[in-house]
Amino acid sequence: MAVGGAADVPRADTLTADVCIIGGGAAGLTLAADLDGGAHSVVVLEAGGAHRERAVEEDTFAVEHFGEPWRNPEPARGRSFGGSANLWFGRLAAPQPIDFDSRPWVPASGWPIERATLTPWLREAAHRLRSPAAEHLDIDRWPSHPTIETFHRRDDTDLAVFAWAGEPDVGGTTRPTLERSTTVRVLLDATVTALVAHQDGRALDHVEVARPDGGRFTVTARAYVLAAGGLENPRLLLASTATGERGLGNDHDLVGRYYMDHPRGEGSAVVDLHGCSDEQLERVRFLGERTPSPVGPVQFGVTFSARKQRDEGLLNHVVHGHLASDEQTSAGHQAARSLLKRVRRRDGDFGPWTDDVVAVVRDSPALARLAARKLTGRVRPTQLIVIDQMEQEPDRDSRVTVDHRKPDRFGLPRVGVDWHIGESTYRSQTVMHETLRRTLAGVGLTSFRSRVLDCPDEPRELWDMKHPSGTTRMATSPTAGVVDADGRVHGLANLYIVGSSTFPTVGHFNPTLTILALTLRLGDHLRRALRR
Ligand SMILES: Cc1cc2nc3c(=O)[nH]c(=O)nc-3n(C[C@H](O)[C@H](O)[C@H](O)COP(=O)(O)OP(=O)(O)OC[C@H]3O[C@@H](n4cnc5c(N)ncnc54)[C@H](O)[C@@H]3O)c2cc1C
Repeated sequence: MAVGGAADVPRADTLTADVCIIGGGAAGLTLAADLDGGAHSVVVLEAGGAHRERAVEEDTFAVEHFGEPWRNPEPARGRSFGGSANLWFGRLAAPQPIDFDSRPWVPASGWPIERATLTPWLREAAHRLRSPAAEHLDIDRWPSHPTIETFHRRDDTDLAVFAWAGEPDVGGTTRPTLERSTTVRVLLDATVTALVAHQDGRALDHVEVARPDGGRFTVTARAYVLAAGGLENPRLLLASTATGERGLGNDHDLVGRYYMDHPRGEGSAVVDLHGCSDEQLERVRFLGERTPSPVGPVQFGVTFSARKQRDEGLLNHVVHGHLASDEQTSAGHQAARSLLKRVRRRDGDFGPWTDDVVAVVRDSPALARLAARKLTGRVRPTQLIVIDQMEQEPDRDSRVTVDHRKPDRFGLPRVGVDWHIGESTYRSQTVMHETLRRTLAGVGLTSFRSRVLDCPDEPRELWDMKHPSGTTRMATSPTAGVVDADGRVHGLANLYIVGSSTFPTVGHFNPTLTILALTLRLGDHLRRALRR
């Protein structure tokens, strides 16, 4: 059995492997399954067990907030086999070429790789997630449709495609491979507490691991991959102070800095569709979430054209939404959706649910009406509830820190998050709403009500999206980034990082597809590097 508990490892023992992967989430497990059956032995160290445990998560994943709060009530990350992919919604989006460019109007922008380098890996990642739309994540592969005619290849706007993973349970899909494996060993309940470098500081020597029963052991490997997520990757580097108080890979004080998410404008505008024609409805049809298509449920999002971004100094911003009928906006329907979301989660859920059940019961006549209409195919959307999913610019002062005075039960320092959202994000949102209002009016949809435009004095309460990024950014030079274009930590010969923490900029795209593309690319690199 290649998936077992850390309790099987004798105390104070030292395990050896060719590759040691820290974190058994979407990235770590995908890498392990990719390396399975090859010439190299692999050990995966996953802090959590088979299921999430509330008390442990509340202690070890506690976050102190100094800047913008996290308004999104969803849990931020999961600590168990499969990691945060036990919580995610499986929404896939590919980055756009402009996201990789060095954009003079976006400070610290520019990836050290091009979009084209990642294209085959993105496609492979979508296939591994069994997305039926794997070959259709590029809008130019779609046949004409009124939504495309309205927004794509216009002076101001373009469209981006969102799809869903056919099998979002990465733990579930990789488990059979990992259980059968003779080259990969996954250890659950194995919390890495420190990365320890050789005396000369040029490579990692070993990692220290804690078991829940207090036992400790170490792992040594030829190559190490940090795949612990966008908050835990910097936390572990900052916690590893054996060879310097700044932590590992932090000679230039970059670890934890440039923290980004996708600020989200939840219901920031509404397009009223009461009384619109069928032809007008089609013009926004594909902006609705999970619109049925021949390649499964998809959604298109309106972005700024690359030219408009360049000409007006805008960030890459997308708007999409929910097409809802009057019944679907009722409290009962919202509560039913929230309950369904929890049931769909394959893992423990910690939120209270009684209020939702009461709301469903109270609203049951409207829900029954909606069900009957769905059965007879007579549900006609009456509004498009608009959601902004925004890029924010990299900001050195937006950062993850650690507090050594507040250790968790394993001795890891407490995480602090000082999240900053710059003016450019708000400006891009305003311009996007102006652009949308104009474009919709051009096709006769004049009922675009925007809180951003109509109530400019109201504070804009932007949500976080649980996409912690940028905290170990990728750059060619060690003075500009923590890892190089291969994901290797500058100055350390055998330590790699994979995950959204390596993104230098975040575009508007949901991160996991790109994380998995980078993971598969890293697997390819490691196979070659370890052969030498
Ligand atoms: C509610 C929610 C919804 C989301 N929806 C989407 C979506 O629709 N689309 C999308 O693209 N993304 C979405 N995301 C983000 C997505 O879940 C993450 O991008 C993805 O799971 C990151 O994978 P990862 O392997 O890098 O990190 P994780 O999945 O977080 O895995 C990291 C693993 O490392 C382990 N670990 C941490 N510290 C240590 C340590 N010290 N020692 C050993 N192990 C450790 C953790 O227990 C965890 O299992 C969502 C996230 C959340 C929370």
